[in-house]
Amino acid sequence: MKPLIEIRNLTKEYGLGDAKVKALNDINLKIDEGEFLVVLGSSGSGKSTLLNMIGAMDLPTCGDVLYSGESIISINKKKRCEFRRNNIGFIFQNFSLIPDLTAKENVELTASFSINSKNPEEYLKRVGLENKLNNYPSELSGGEQQRVAIARALVKESKIILLDEPTGALDSESGKNILKLLLEIKKQYNKTIILVTHTKEISYLASRIITMKNGKIYNDEINNNQMDLEDIKW
Ligand code: ADP
Ligand code: MG
Repeated sequence: MKPLIEIRNLTKEYGLGDAKVKALNDINLKIDEGEFLVVLGSSGSGKSTLLNMIGAMDLPTCGDVLYSGESIISINKKKRCEFRRNNIGFIFQNFSLIPDLTAKENVELTASFSINSKNPEEYLKRVGLENKLNNYPSELSGGEQQRVAIARALVKESKIILLDEPTGALDSESGKNILKLLLEIKKQYNKTIILVTHTKEISYLASRIITMKNGKIYNDEINNNQMDLEDIKW
């Protein structure tokens, strides 16, 4: 069977001449449906760049990204956009909610763009925000804002959830609550999750751990000893 995601010889360069940076250097990677992958690596190692390529947010300098054997690189921009809207739930470190829209409106907006999406209110309930539907992001705590961002990613009913440092802007307690929610969702809907972090302890939860260094995959291992959230500390 074809892997859900296959990355072939992926290279991404930024800048020109002396200022040229190779953010990704000839990466090859296969990810199967249902995996919970954590990508570790120090700042600048290429984690966000890799996630953006997987999420069809940006194009590589060369190489390919395939979903079930179909390239999302060689198709036109409109098709790639459609693919992203319908198939990828993206969660960022800084939540990236629209400040002038309430929690409910933020989720509704995303739902309106995606063909599969169901009831926005249902997903806000799912993340425990049924009493905050009409609050604006500025009226929510960091942890609550991240919950809205998760509801927004879930409402698309996509198989794939990508998270870039989802706990980076949160205290450890709120960060743990977000991960708890993520683990519940994973279990309930069998999502494929790729989570980027530089917090090593978070990787203990994953089924597979990749470590990046200087734009390359430095280590790639199956985690046979997945830990419970209650047993990790950071
Ligand atoms: P990480 O997420 O692991 O911290 P990034 O993927 O953000 O790393 O960055 C990898 C490298 O690419 C870094 O050297 C960074 O400075 C560079 N880089 C990332 N995005 C850009 C950009 N838009 N323009 C120029 N350089 C960039
Ligand atoms: Mg990053």
